[in-house]
Amino acid sequence: MTSTAATSAPTSTNPFLIGQGLPPFDQFQPDQVEPAITELISDLTTALESLEQTMTSTWEGLAAPLTKISERLGWTWGVLGHLMGVKNSPELRAAYEAVQPALVQFATRLSQSKVFYNGFKQLAQATNLSSAQKRIVDAAIRDAELSGVGLEGAAKEQFNQIQQQLAELSTQFSNHVLDATKAFSLTLTTQEDIAGLPPSLLSLAAQAAREAGEETATAETGPWRITLDIPSYGPFLKHSRRRDLREKVYRAYISRASAGDLNNSPLIDKTLALRKQQAQLLGFETYADLSIARKMAPSVDAVEGLMEELRSASYEAASKELEDLKAFAKQQNAAEADDLKQWDIPFWAERMRETEFDLNDEELRPYFPLPKVLNGLFELASRLFGVTITAADGQAPIWHPDVRYFAIADANDNPVAYFYLDPYSRSAEKRGGAWMDECIVRAHTEPKNPVRLPVAYLVCNQSPPIDGKPSLMTFREVETLFHEFGHGLQHMLTQVDYPGAAGINNVEWDAVELPSQFMENWCYDRSTLFKMARHYETGAPLPEGDYQKLLAARNFMTGNAILRQVNFGWLDIELHSRYQPDGSDSIWDVRDRLSEKTTVLPPLAEDAFLCSFGHIFAGGYAAGYYSYFWAEVLSADAFAAFEEVGIDNEGAVQETGKRFRDTVLALGGSRHPMEVFQAFRGREPSTDALLRHRGLKVA
Ligand code: ZN
Repeated sequence: MTSTAATSAPTSTNPFLIGQGLPPFDQFQPDQVEPAITELISDLTTALESLEQTMTSTWEGLAAPLTKISERLGWTWGVLGHLMGVKNSPELRAAYEAVQPALVQFATRLSQSKVFYNGFKQLAQATNLSSAQKRIVDAAIRDAELSGVGLEGAAKEQFNQIQQQLAELSTQFSNHVLDATKAFSLTLTTQEDIAGLPPSLLSLAAQAAREAGEETATAETGPWRITLDIPSYGPFLKHSRRRDLREKVYRAYISRASAGDLNNSPLIDKTLALRKQQAQLLGFETYADLSIARKMAPSVDAVEGLMEELRSASYEAASKELEDLKAFAKQQNAAEADDLKQWDIPFWAERMRETEFDLNDEELRPYFPLPKVLNGLFELASRLFGVTITAADGQAPIWHPDVRYFAIADANDNPVAYFYLDPYSRSAEKRGGAWMDECIVRAHTEPKNPVRLPVAYLVCNQSPPIDGKPSLMTFREVETLFHEFGHGLQHMLTQVDYPGAAGINNVEWDAVELPSQFMENWCYDRSTLFKMARHYETGAPLPEGDYQKLLAARNFMTGNAILRQVNFGWLDIELHSRYQPDGSDSIWDVRDRLSEKTTVLPPLAEDAFLCSFGHIFAGGYAAGYYSYFWAEVLSADAFAAFEEVGIDNEGAVQETGKRFRDTVLALGGSRHPMEVFQAFRGREPSTDALLRHRGLKVA
């Protein structure tokens, strides 16, 4: 991109101010944050004010220079946000909190500019805009309206104050969850304590003990430290034969951030009340209505309609699964069979799965070493989308020695994109979960200049390499990697020239999981799976029997799995629509009422999972958690297009893959998601494929 006066390169040597290109991850220090942000905000405010004076209502006179301003802000804020996620520290956190108000204030100033808003309204009348440009202009108008551009005086002030408070509440919420997760650990010292635990968990727990100062801890001799991080917590509940310890760990998990200094409950009340006020200032009745205004779903009713369809399709199945589980536990002479508690469900479900399918997550790990899984994933990308992925380590600075860097090239061997992969769990400094984020967004706004190639961050929290072995992944971890890679593909294979609609930008939130959930399906595809599932020592392929079992077990307890997500999604919508923050009901009353129809085992009275529900209180999913299902309707139906032409029909698969690449992956936010879907599928989406894939409907 060419440089203009408004965005001239900063003279400072502060790495947070570089403003473009690959971030120099070997140079960032927390004490650079405050001076950088102060300087940046001051520069950008000048640029913004000058643009307000000089702008004309044309693409070149408004949208283009404004993009440059927001990209400079986005670069620094993006790097900072990324470091908060993968290299968190008390110093960085303090610096982030110190600069957050100024950043929010600037973003608000930008989004509430009446001059730009009026400019965009005029620009929207222009007849020479491409579809991408038109969508960007429309989004700018809508976002300005939803950011309060129409508010005056006291209302505007109140709105802005709410924005600021909400940002602080969200940061506090997520810090509390992080701290509460770190605050608990269970140290095991005897063979009795570790009864049932698989070797991989013992290795992880011994490593955690060493990190906590038990220098002599080993997988064989202990001590073993169990934590509430998912790679530790999940397997512990599935495998520990000590019911008392399972209960202890389970109770710790569900009560995270629900008491004392880290209590998120008051934060939730405040957040919901503020969101409602904010929505009403903008003329919406509820926050859910405000949220849906930016979504593919047409209304809250449509969302609840989908929730009810899924609930009624899964409730009976879920009840029966629980009965089957009790019967199974009884057969195994479990004392608790008649009174299975929450901390027994994962344990007995895992035993039943082992018995019915003779399948154990742990036994499959040796067949999924990360390097082989990556090869398989990259071959699939090549087969479906005609791209080649190669290691490019050393071509970009990284933030941790475990981070990898890769290049993607097209069929003519021209580079089209790059990505970082940060695969392993590092609980001391890394947020839990997995995500894809943008590092650099594709842009080609000056025909004479080369395309600015996209770069993605793929971040997972899978089992790290231990005791000299590569990272041996659970099948679920493999699916997660495919999922994030799917997001990455949409970011990296976009063909949109304008950053505002390239990749995942300007894609409606409830459609954004289409490519990611689509990719997960391929983990079950025979040819994909057998290419990657190779024993890490012997190179032997996954035994055919195990593959058959994986397929058979795919929908094990499917009713419960769906119902659980329906419960989360519906509760989120309910709290953001009907719930009255100042009324007589508490959030827990709402939770209990909804649980009657969306759970088969009612939550414990002290279950405070809302206090760690970061998706809706510290992420972007507020009144949007339903999006996973909304997008799964799309992703399942998209995968069904491959099934229809025959998943082993190589020519047809490649042709369909190319069409997927040219529509869903290439068009990104440049068209409405319904239009993009129809361009790929030739019709509107249907829920049939989702219900069939999830085992709730026969083919
Ligand atoms: Zn996702």
